[in-house]
Amino acid sequence: MTRHCDVLIVGGGLAGCSAAIQLARRGYAVRLVEKRRYPAHRLCGEFLSPEVQGQFERLGVAGAVRAAGARAIDTFWLTAPDGRGCRGRLPGTALGLSRYTLDRLLFEAAAGAGAVAEAGRTVRGVAGTLAEGFRVRVDEEEVRARVVLGAFGRRSTLDRVLQRPFLRQSTPWVAFKAHYTGVDVAGVIELHAFPGGYCGLSEVEGGRVNVCWIGQADALRAAGGRPEAYIAQTLCRNPVLAERFGAMTRLTPSFEAVSQITFRVKGTFAGDVGLLGDAAGMIAPLCGDGMAMALRSAELVVPPVEGLLAGTLEPEAFREAYSRAWQQEFRARLRLGRWLHRAGERPALARLAVGTLARWPRLGAWLVHRTRGGS
Ligand SMILES: Cc1cc2nc3c(=O)[nH]c(=O)nc-3n(C[C@H](O)[C@H](O)[C@H](O)COP(=O)(O)OP(=O)(O)OC[C@H]3O[C@@H](n4cnc5c(N)ncnc54)[C@H](O)[C@@H]3O)c2cc1C
Repeated sequence: MTRHCDVLIVGGGLAGCSAAIQLARRGYAVRLVEKRRYPAHRLCGEFLSPEVQGQFERLGVAGAVRAAGARAIDTFWLTAPDGRGCRGRLPGTALGLSRYTLDRLLFEAAAGAGAVAEAGRTVRGVAGTLAEGFRVRVDEEEVRARVVLGAFGRRSTLDRVLQRPFLRQSTPWVAFKAHYTGVDVAGVIELHAFPGGYCGLSEVEGGRVNVCWIGQADALRAAGGRPEAYIAQTLCRNPVLAERFGAMTRLTPSFEAVSQITFRVKGTFAGDVGLLGDAAGMIAPLCGDGMAMALRSAELVVPPVEGLLAGTLEPEAFREAYSRAWQQEFRARLRLGRWLHRAGERPALARLAVGTLARWPRLGAWLVHRTRGGS
């Protein structure tokens, strides 16, 4: 039997759940399809930048996020690969909450808002247009939808199905994440550069320390592909990281890992499928703003989707409205993020940047403001 819905959303991460909550609350028939089952660990710095709090309020989940044990973070500590650093206050209160907890909480909120939310099912194919409607293959089932939103993250098998051009480019970055115990990072986001990358430490619920780093695939190969050896050989060349890892014990049995990370703008549409969050473009992790951007992209797409479903926007106007809003809000931030990432991964630049920020803290506040879309 073929099923019908107004909007089918592929991916139950931040962008997909946020779009599902908003559209279901407005009375549309929404189907949210997520390939994993919850709860599951996920590679991420788990640092929720201050503007996320307003987004959680608007989604009606702020109380649940607090009740889940999110930790307040209001200061930062940056170090260059030689261990020299600077500290300062963040321009607002950020939060630390694991994706293990947050993703499930948002997915349940989407179901609570009235979306048909299905975990453990994979979207394998999408065909159709905004003018004629879509046929979507969810495992072996066919679903018809008037609108399809792709919120399937930085890299999905669906990118191949949709023949997205960014797949042709290879990138040198790999990233890892695990939870640890043994050091006190309460209230602080730590960001420590090492040759070829940087590593963040911050607290999440239950007092666990989330440790997440991005570095070069070459260095991982030189470490025999083993993250523990990578830590010992490369990350611990920063004396602060050497001290941190010396004092910590890993709590999660294994590392989450990803490769082929790209910070390019990938585009707001693949055919007529509208793209949200990392599927459209990911900001460098150093900015700690990817989750806020994913949530914001969902806020940007909802009004044009409503216009389309109500018949006040033609498909072309829908595409234009969302693409324009996305470009205005994110394009400059992504560019700045790429620039900051380059500074973070090169020891001489990282030293210069940390030294400059120590001397002119207001420059740091300005950069943070710009990575949040300020002008
Ligand atoms: C090293 C690193 C550190 C980071 N640290 C931070 C940080 O500290 N703070 C921050 O704000 N951001 C951080 N980010 C960025 C942040 O993780 C992302 O920007 C954010 O997760 C994007 O959300 P999303 O909803 O677009 O995608 P995701 O959260 O990736 O969700 C996509 C979902 O789609 C599902 N999916 C994929 N394909 C299919 C399919 N075919 N069918 C069904 N489901 C599918 C996936 O299983 C996944 O659950 C970091 C990123 C990296 C790489």
